[in-house]
Parts: sequence; C-alpha cells; structure tokens
Amino acid sequence: MTSDQNQRLAGRVALVTGAGSGIGRAIATRYGAAGAHVFALDRDLDAAERAAAAIVAAGGRAAAVACDVTDAAAVAAAVTRVREQGGGIDLVVNNAGISVLGAVHTLSEQEWDRQLDVNVKSVFLVSRAVWPHLVERGGGVLLNTGSVLGLRAERDDAAAYCASKAAVLMLTRCMALDGAAHGIRSNAVCPGYVTGPMLDHYTSAQPDAAAARAAVAAQHPLGWLGDPADVAEAFLYLASDAARWVTGAVLSVDGGMAVA
Ligand code: NAD
Repeated sequence: MTSDQNQRLAGRVALVTGAGSGIGRAIATRYGAAGAHVFALDRDLDAAERAAAAIVAAGGRAAAVACDVTDAAAVAAAVTRVREQGGGIDLVVNNAGISVLGAVHTLSEQEWDRQLDVNVKSVFLVSRAVWPHLVERGGGVLLNTGSVLGLRAERDDAAAYCASKAAVLMLTRCMALDGAAHGIRSNAVCPGYVTGPMLDHYTSAQPDAAAARAAVAAQHPLGWLGDPADVAEAFLYLASDAARWVTGAVLSVDGGMAVA
C-alpha cells in the first residue's frame, strides 16, 4: 500500500461502496493509506472483509459492511451503522456498479432494470441516506464513479451501461447544486477501461478475448489499459481539502479516451 506522508484524509470517516474489488478496493486502500477510517461496503461480505483486513494490516483503520446498494432498507441500515461505529461520516464514494452487456434490440426489461438499479438508483439511495447527516455536520463529500462510457457512446454492447453512467454524471451535477449551500461537494470520476473483473467480463463475452482486450487498450490514446490505482488517485484528490473549491466536476481518468 502506498503510504501517504501527508495523511490527507486523517480524521475523516469514508464509506466506499463496491469496495470488495477493482476500483472500489483501490479507492478504499488509498483512503486508508491517507489516514481515513474506511468502511468498505460490498454485497460480497468476504471481499469487503479482505479489503478491510488489508488496510488494517498496512496500519490503517477499516471495517467491512455487507449491503446490497439497490435495497433501500439495507442502505439506510448500513449508513446508520457506519455513523454509529465511525462517529459520523465525512465522505462517501458511490462506486458499486455492474456492466450488463446488450443493445436496445437485445436487452430484456429485467436486464435494463438491473443495470439502472445497481448503477444509478444506488447513487440516489446511498446519497439520500447520508444527506441529512452531512447537512447536520455542516458539509461533506459525495463522489460518484462514472465512466468514459457516460461521455461517449459505444456500439452494440453498452446501451444500458452508457445510459446508466450518463445519468450518474447528471445526478452528480444536481447533487452539487443542491448540496453547495450545505457545504456538500459532489463530483464524479470517469475512468477509462482498467484491468480487472469488469473488463474480463466484457472480453470473455467476445469471440477472441485476447484480441478484444488489445482492441480495448487501443481505444485509449495513451495506448494502454489503466490500473485501478490510477483512478484511486483522482478520488483521493477530490476527497481532500485540495479540492475544496471543486464541485459538480466530471474528471476523466481514461488515457485520453474521452477525447479520442
Ligand atoms: P468490479 O466488478 O471489480 O467491482 C465491483 C464491486 O461492486 C464488486 O465487489 C461487487 O461485489 C460490488 N457490487 C456490485 N453490485 C453491488 C450491489 N448491488 N451492492 C453492493 N455491492 C455491489 O468492478 P470495477 O471495475 O471495480 O468497477 C467499479 C466501478 O467503476 C463501477 O461503477 C464501474 O461501472 C466503474 N467503471 C469501471 C471501469 C472498468 O474498466 N472496470 C471503467 C469505467 C468505470
């Protein structure tokens, strides 16, 4: 784990959803190294516990929280638990997400609903649950994981996913406006393709997985796939006081893919 000499998040309590894997785990790890007390939330409790244990083993503070972010009652209970155990919440990262492959003419209604529930409704549910608490505390930070596919369309496989991520970006902007008077900052990070299970899910569905992976990498002007840790650095900046005047922003961390 990268240790952060400046301890930029010392004293902060951070809730990170989808922290059991990939980008969420990298964010949780980075926040732990920066001094935050991290609550690693995931529907996969074993994965969340592994993420929390690694932070603790590296000298940080962390605990696992089991929760399905599409379940409003479970979200409310999880936020209450984190508030009680953490002594408050300063910072939330709405990161849990899935990729349902399909086009408008191939997706079922159930697939569409599942994609929008996990990627968009969850941001609403978690942010709504924590909002009164942040207002009461005089402010806080809400960060959302968007995607380059919320900024540009992709052929064949990504209609529901692209729509879900575009919705996350507009929700981020609305939350920034609504939260500003309360000291709540809301921003989004749009990653390009990073190595990990979500990319494997896409490439393994293609006729030639290795060729598909190379083709995806080539879509990024820098020419290579990102690492979740590259994305986590942007989340650290946006969470820290260095970004105190940044709200409503959409930060691309994508090897240049959004402008290609
Ligand atoms: P991942 O599959 O590695 O991890 C996602 C985590 O979210 C898993 O631990 C999973 O258990 C959890 N999760 C899924 N549904 C959940 C639910 N209903 N409740 C609670 N937890 C749930 O994925 P990743 O690549 O790390 O993606 C994380 C975020 O980044 C997603 O929002 C994704 O859309 C976005 N993103 C990923 C990429 C990429 O290339 N992987 C690119 C751009 C954006």
